This record gives sequence, structure tokens and C-alpha cells, in this order.
Amino acid sequence: MNSFSAFTGLECSKTGEQFKPDGLMNLSPCGAPLLARYDMEAAARTLDFRNVADRVHSMWRYHEMLPAPDESAIVTLGEGMTPLLRTPRLEKAFGLSNLFVKDEGLNPTGSFKSRGLSVAITMARHLGAKKIAIPTAGNAGGAAAAYASRAGIEASVFVPEKAPSVHKVECALAGADVTVVRGYIHHCAEIVAHRTPAEDWFELSTFKEPYRAEGKKTMAYELVEQFGGDVPDVILYPTGGGTGLVAMWRAFGELEALGWIGEKRPRMICVQAEGCAPLVQAYENDDEVSALWDNPTTMVSGLRAPKVLADFLCLRTIRESGGTAIAVSDEMMFEAQRKAGDLEGILICPEGGACIAALGVLLERGDIGRDERIVTFNTATGLKYADMVETEVSVIDPLSA
Ligand SMILES: *Cc1c(COP(=O)(O)O)cnc(C)c1O
Repeated sequence: MNSFSAFTGLECSKTGEQFKPDGLMNLSPCGAPLLARYDMEAAARTLDFRNVADRVHSMWRYHEMLPAPDESAIVTLGEGMTPLLRTPRLEKAFGLSNLFVKDEGLNPTGSFKSRGLSVAITMARHLGAKKIAIPTAGNAGGAAAAYASRAGIEASVFVPEKAPSVHKVECALAGADVTVVRGYIHHCAEIVAHRTPAEDWFELSTFKEPYRAEGKKTMAYELVEQFGGDVPDVILYPTGGGTGLVAMWRAFGELEALGWIGEKRPRMICVQAEGCAPLVQAYENDDEVSALWDNPTTMVSGLRAPKVLADFLCLRTIRESGGTAIAVSDEMMFEAQRKAGDLEGILICPEGGACIAALGVLLERGDIGRDERIVTFNTATGLKYADMVETEVSVIDPLSA
């Protein structure tokens, strides 16, 4: 324990069994995700809401509540501190008074995966990993490749054939070893798990690695900072593996323990694609875990996660927070993407579009009130999906005259 980080170790999310933080770990012995623990009293002594604004302009300003042992251990590209944009023209279109978009597209690798991989690679290097491997729908691979290069670690990335081509490019340019898999992300995960012992990799799969969630939780810290010590009423989050959903919910508990907020919590709304909605199905069936979604048909890669390792944590988060889970069609996502660009000039990804589309449905249903303070997440820049968007342009050809 030192004053830089109040991190004390890991805990099994099923049994509560605790582990010392002195070696590389994936899942707990019972096969469940591991979650980080902190000495909250120690953190509260120096992580003060009133002077945090003077700190470094990245998510590492919350270093007491992140696991890196000291400043020199941190692998950073300046991630976090993304804008929380008030969107008055979207508000008007929906008849709302308080709508915000947290624009994660401005992160160093163009998506919020920067946050998780900054912390994961920091800890992997600190704990002695020389080579990492990651199964990815795309954005996590791009981030893993970038942070691994920054750390001087070798990266192997396994990406489904149908992922947007930009992901192969960003991984290759960051010097990673890229393998394209003719299947879905869970097939990539199976290949990584199978080959890891022989390759001596450290695996960074979602929730199979304990520290990516710690990076993503900083989104909640930033929201509270940006709202001046308050929380929104509702958060809409495009959910694949559920890292951000679970991590932010836990973070609000930490923020109360730190004295930054009171008891009030946002309702956490899990947004998925109609063509791959294992958590929505489980939520609607009152199940505690989700089933493998057999035939994912959504084109939207960040939401193409048929198997959710931390499903029980996601479902618990949705229910404890009084939120809900909802699926929208790809068509609605792309329409909302256009709407955000057209009305507000924000170039969002279809996953971000999913949240705005879901908002429309939930307002109709009366699940969200028009006067509530609403935050929707845009999780990546729309530039990554350029090849999925049809454009209507006029052409002038002076050379053929
Ligand atoms: C990974 C990803 C998601 C899903 O994030 P989780 O926190 O794992 O649920 C959503 N949108 C985009 C763009 C992503 O890359």
C-alpha cells in the first residue's frame, strides 16, 4: 500500500475469496471474473473532489483508485477526460430538457477501449508479461496493439473476419500480429485460450482479465466530475461484454465511499442489438445468467458478443440500479447515427446510435421521463465504421469535358 494507489488486491466476483495482487491472474479458481479492491479510507485522504481538477488531464488523475503502483508504471496515451456534450438540438427533437452524449470517440485509439487497455497493459507489464493476446470485435484489439507497443510488449490479436477493416489496419500499424478468424468473437476467445499455454501469452479477454474494468470505471468518475459532484438520472450504455456497465455501477459505490456523491444512483440501461441480445433475453426471462446467442446477425461489431462471461454481474447491475435492458435494430442504430451527425455534428458509431435509438423507444414507453437528466454513451468514433455508411454525394468531373 502506498499513497499513489489504494489498490489492495483482487476478489472473486462469485465467492468473495481474496487474492494478493502480486502475480498475473485471469479468472478466479471457480472460473469467475476477479474484481479489484481498494482501501477506501486511504484513497479518500488524497483523492479530493475539490482539487482533482488540477491534476493530469487523463483518467490517471484518479490514480488512487487505479491499480498501478506508481507513476512510472503507467502506460498511457492520454486516455479519458472525454467531452460530455449537451445536445440541445437532439433534446428538442425528443422533447427533452437534459440530454448529454459522453463522447468516447475522442480517446487515443478512437474508442473507450483505450481506458481498459491502458490499465490492463500497465498491470501486465508491471507483473512481468512479455507477450499478450486478445480476442476482439475490433476496438479492443486496436487499443491492445497500441498500448502493447507503448509498453514494449508483443501483441497477438484475433479478430473475426466480419470486423470493420480499419481494425486490421490499426492493429497492423501498431506492429501487432493479427489473425483473422472465420467466426465470431467467442471463437476468437476459444482459439486464444487454447493456444495461450504453448505461446506463453497473457490473455486480455473481456472480464478474463481483471484490470480492463478498472480503466472503464473512470467513465463514472468523469461523469461525476463533469456534473459537478452529481450523477445523471439515467445512463444508456451499448453493452457487449458489459465491462463499462458493471464497472461504472461499482464506481458509483466507490464515489459514495469517497464522499464525492450521495446515495442517489443512475438507472443503468443496457442497450443491445436485436440480432444479438443475450442480456436482454435473460433480463426479460428473469434469468440470472444469459445463454449463448446462437446466430448473431447484427452488423454492428461492438455489440456482436453472443457469449457474456460476466452476464450475472451485468444482470445484477441492471436490476439493482432499477434500469432495464432493450434491443434495437441495426437500421435504427444507423438512423440515429445520422440524426446525431445531422443535428449535432457528432460523428458517432452505430453502437452509440443504439443508445439514442433506445432512448426514443424508452421515452415512448414511459420508462424514461422527459425532464430527467440523461446520458447516452458514444463508445467510438464513427470514422471506424466509414465503410458501413452509404453516402449520397454529387460528382462533378471537369477532366472528362
Ligand atoms: C467494446 C465495445 C462496446 C461494448 O463494450 P462493453 O463494455 O464490453 O460492453 C460498445 N461499443 C463499442 C464501439 C465497443 O468497441
